[in-house]
Amino acid sequence: MSTKISNNVENVELSGIRKFYNKVLKVDNAVSLTLGQPDFQVPLKAKEAMIQAIMDGKTTYTSNAGIMELREEISKYLNEFNINFNADEICITVGGSEGLFATFTALINTGDKVLIPTPAYPAYESCVKILGGQVIDFQLNDQFNIDFDKLKEIICREKPKIMVLSYPCNPTGAVLTEKDRNELYEIIKKEDIIVVSDEMYSSIYFGDKYYSIAQYNDIKDKVILVSGFSKMFSMTGLRIGYVCARKEYIDSIVKVHQYNVSCAPSIAQYAACEGLKNCLQDVEYMKNEFKKRRDYVYNRLVDMGLDVNMPKGAFYIFPSIKKFKIRSEEFCEKLLNEAKVAIVPGSAFGNGGEGYIRMSYCYSMNELEEALNRLEKFISQFL
Ligand code: PLP
Repeated sequence: MSTKISNNVENVELSGIRKFYNKVLKVDNAVSLTLGQPDFQVPLKAKEAMIQAIMDGKTTYTSNAGIMELREEISKYLNEFNINFNADEICITVGGSEGLFATFTALINTGDKVLIPTPAYPAYESCVKILGGQVIDFQLNDQFNIDFDKLKEIICREKPKIMVLSYPCNPTGAVLTEKDRNELYEIIKKEDIIVVSDEMYSSIYFGDKYYSIAQYNDIKDKVILVSGFSKMFSMTGLRIGYVCARKEYIDSIVKVHQYNVSCAPSIAQYAACEGLKNCLQDVEYMKNEFKKRRDYVYNRLVDMGLDVNMPKGAFYIFPSIKKFKIRSEEFCEKLLNEAKVAIVPGSAFGNGGEGYIRMSYCYSMNELEEALNRLEKFISQFL
């Protein structure tokens, strides 16, 4: 019987992150550093706001774009980082995932070219392929930053309609530097291109100042910001994200969002709203904890002799295994079977990820220590 599944969907694979997470479930006593699921509780006041919303009967549909109170809080919050979108330019989505999908759906015609950095979060490539767009890979440099000569050349050659930016970066931990932001601005100002900037980890950056391409008002008509609260308030299962864009774009994004999900979960919107109003100190606490874990994991990996960049944001680290002359998937399979540690092969993050492994350090110190002890023993066979 011929398949009835769409070619676009058939050509997309299940996420390599989940693939390894599912494998770990079958191995006894394995330690998993696979998922981007922080081990913190949702801040207490946010939980209470959600319970109160249930008790108050705020369990009906909200407006498609989300409750005004939350959109206003997001607008105020972003303003602190010099990012200016008003409440009418914000749509609350079912996690950042739906925000990305609604954005790409609103923009992509069949065959449209989308420039995607590699390595990168795998959803960009899969969404674009499902929607019939054409993925143009853009290889990041050894520090996982932009090589501007290459970028200019590829834009000139391919003339992509959309460019994806993803900072702070999953899987590499790289952030957008001031210099790169300024250089990007010059390019975007000149080119006929729309930027989709995924800033899901904007609350977890370890430097003093946060830089985003959405900080320029004069190119605001070319920048769509996607973000959310899954990581910020450690509420991955509550599914609240958001998209910010100028009116013309946001109206189309809301249209897609409306036909897909009607609205984001009402009670979780109230939790996020309370989070922005009264839980930013919890966010600061989590960030400082992630920083301690980052330092610990980085130092252990360096001591083991692995080549690794110091992450500057998010909660992932992406060491190179190139010198072991083994493919990342094989390395991770062996590591799981022989040492009972689950991490994600770099190849799950596109062509540019081969030769690397991704470890998530949003796990407890005990789990990190145990996983690193096992990893250390395991890699001695390659040295
Ligand atoms: N963007 C990036 C870079 C991510 O790492 C993730 C989740 O891991 C998402 C978007 C999706 O986030 P959400 O869980 O809010 O859908």
